[in-house]
Amino acid sequence: MSKATLFQHPRGTRDFLPEEMMRRRYGESVIRQVFEKYGYQEIMTPIFEYFDLYKKRSGEKIRDEIYVFPGHPRERDDGFGIPPEYALRPELTAPACRMLISGGLSTWPRPVKIYYIGQCFRYDRPAPGRYREFWQAGIEVFGSEFPESDAEVIAVAANTLEELGLVTYELRIGTLGVLRGILSENGVNEETQNRIAGWIDKAASNINKIKGGEPVTDDRGQSMSELGVLQLLDEELYNIGVRGNVKDKVLKVFELVGTGQEVLKNAKEIFNECKNAMQALDHLSASLNALEMLKVPSYVVDLSVARGLDFYTGTVFEFNIASLGAQKQVCGGGRYDNLVHEYGGPKIPATGFAFGLDRLVEAISREGVKVPTTTRCHVVVIATTQEVRNKTLEIANMLRSKGVRVETDLMRRSLNEMLSLANRFGTPYAVIVGPKELSTGKVIMRNLLEKKQEEISLEDVANRIKKNLNLG
Ligand code: AMP
Repeated sequence: MSKATLFQHPRGTRDFLPEEMMRRRYGESVIRQVFEKYGYQEIMTPIFEYFDLYKKRSGEKIRDEIYVFPGHPRERDDGFGIPPEYALRPELTAPACRMLISGGLSTWPRPVKIYYIGQCFRYDRPAPGRYREFWQAGIEVFGSEFPESDAEVIAVAANTLEELGLVTYELRIGTLGVLRGILSENGVNEETQNRIAGWIDKAASNINKIKGGEPVTDDRGQSMSELGVLQLLDEELYNIGVRGNVKDKVLKVFELVGTGQEVLKNAKEIFNECKNAMQALDHLSASLNALEMLKVPSYVVDLSVARGLDFYTGTVFEFNIASLGAQKQVCGGGRYDNLVHEYGGPKIPATGFAFGLDRLVEAISREGVKVPTTTRCHVVVIATTQEVRNKTLEIANMLRSKGVRVETDLMRRSLNEMLSLANRFGTPYAVIVGPKELSTGKVIMRNLLEKKQEEISLEDVANRIKKNLNLG
């Protein structure tokens, strides 16, 4: 490996400086507060899982999209025979399901309501807003098949964005129940349904890009129009054996975009012969009614929202923030009633979502949301001469024990150098310790923002600083 590469972070990963960390931690704290306000409890799962967890859900093809690595050769002795393969987790819904089945949640009263915040890894093509290491914050509700739970998870996401000050979001809600309903009634198996949902998701996202003025190209690099995207999908459906009336109905989902009332009315006319599709529409309708009670103000119902992941079965949704440009989707989620069962657990309905934390933090910056910042310290304690240097350590310690954030000089700098550094870091107070003042039990307390100073008794320093900084 060349020296240049050795000292760079791996492609698609990032280093975070303190200022950025402050924004990220702020985002996380707001997210936690909102999730907990609705009764969700935090869980943590390993950064890596057995590859089989993801293979079982998405098939061998997922190997191309995630980081898979062999176990340690000595794991042979753990009883595996050959060491198992591991995957860095690409998302946290699968680990949450695993935990539900075998990790201690199985005996909990239903619904089980959990949340997580943690990093994920995907072999994605890096771009602004798209990383190979990124963070997700999400919730899952296990055990409720009812539309109130779909409404609640959507409301939690909407409320989180509002509390973060990101009020300009666009929320699109659809249901995969319609598509799955028509396809399964016409004998299309689940694996093919998943492929079709993937194509629809891609086509819908390309159409949105074209509508937003972004160029979209086909495999040969030729620019595509909206019509071209639909023609391609038409061909894909035809080639996989979905033809005639069924194909026309599938393509109709692209026209079913608008207010809840409009879309539900039109969709019920189109799909009235398909029992499962009608049930999905009724479920969606009930979710939208519940959503109204939860005061989620505006959304578009869009039956072309299909989500890229294979496991969704019913209501699906996504939140976009336009100022983020190409990677504007900050949240995706929906109902996945079969996944726990597919993993060998009982038949437990489930719904949930994941935010892309990195995109939320970027949106906070772009939208100019004020983030509470803290200075590195409240106080710097500075010695004017070498002989009192150790005394500064004692004073600093005394202040810290009273809850003040304090630093001392570890570089043996001059008083002036220390004062100018403190100014640079925005430290509001300096306690200046000199032999003359110290001999009478005093120090100089300097307000660096107002550039005023006074001599005060050492015993009073902590109280005065705490009072002035409202530290309680
Ligand atoms: P998904 O698990 O694919 O439904 O993604 C949920 C959310 O995670 C998306 O809406 C994005 O905000 C975020 N996300 C997904 N992939 C990436 C990535 N490679 N880099 C940054 N954020 C991502």
